[in-house]
Amino acid sequence: MTRFNTQLVHGLPVNDNNIGAVNPPIYNSSTYAFESVGTMPRWDYARSGNPTREFLEKQIAQLEHGTRGFAFGSGLAAIHAVLSIFQPGDRIIVGKNIYGGTYSLFHEYFERWGVIVEEVDTTDYKALDAAVSGESAKGNAHGCPAKAVYFEVLTNPLLQVNNVTAIAGIAHRHGAIAIVDNTFVTPYLQQPLDQGADIVIHSATKYLAGHSEVNAGLVVVKDDELGKRVYFAQNRLGGVLAPNECDSVRRGIQTLALRVDRQQENARAISSYLLLHPLVKSVHYPGLPGHEYELASNGLKGGG
Ligand SMILES: *Cc1c(COP(=O)(O)O)cnc(C)c1O
Repeated sequence: MTRFNTQLVHGLPVNDNNIGAVNPPIYNSSTYAFESVGTMPRWDYARSGNPTREFLEKQIAQLEHGTRGFAFGSGLAAIHAVLSIFQPGDRIIVGKNIYGGTYSLFHEYFERWGVIVEEVDTTDYKALDAAVSGESAKGNAHGCPAKAVYFEVLTNPLLQVNNVTAIAGIAHRHGAIAIVDNTFVTPYLQQPLDQGADIVIHSATKYLAGHSEVNAGLVVVKDDELGKRVYFAQNRLGGVLAPNECDSVRRGIQTLALRVDRQQENARAISSYLLLHPLVKSVHYPGLPGHEYELASNGLKGGG
């Protein structure tokens, strides 16, 4: 973890100042000067790009082992941008157990725009395969493979564990992409792109920023083709993260390893206590003592 932990603290080298500052500057500028009428500067307008945001976007791409990262004003803004790469008539298979806001975005928003949303228990590989292939789909969608599978590695709030390798494998078999919400796991415990995912999403509001002071979303893609599509959505929908917030998320990321270690320690103590409590019927925590093998076989370094 040494190298990963160093990347948490430093990101990519800061190379745009003559001062020697080790942290990236916060550029509060919506527009940028053109040297001449005929030249196009690297930065021209803050919705299209901002150096403070770029630092964070490159850092999350590095931490998640992807090719390109994107920062948004919230997790839902990130998910909105990713889902907007699809078209009316496209079918998306969604894990049954997902964050409420995401559920609403699928059903109360994207369904209105003609995206077909089908819920499946993503731990039931037979049902998932039938859903992705279109075999179990009704009406016009029957026999028509899905365009994507969307799920959370550790689901919010019930902490169901989803196996990225298995699910992405089923998606790819039918030409669909795997979109993973890695919010509750963080790249400290698993890098889903290494397990076959195509797009990783974070509500950085939670563990990445870590101090309950900022709403933010991050996206990382596996390849340039997806990168172009997500960038177009980011730039057109415009839900970008402001420079000061980018800096808050960057600062939060610096202590991610320390916080997750301590949080897992606390979660183990609390869950072990609850497990033995006579008034408690069941405990939903995948990091309970004795579950190490199960976690590892799902590619996870911890229960979150
Ligand atoms: C909170 C959360 C979101 C939404 O993120 P916001 O930053 O609140 O918009 C999405 N997915 C998961 C798993 C979450 O916990």
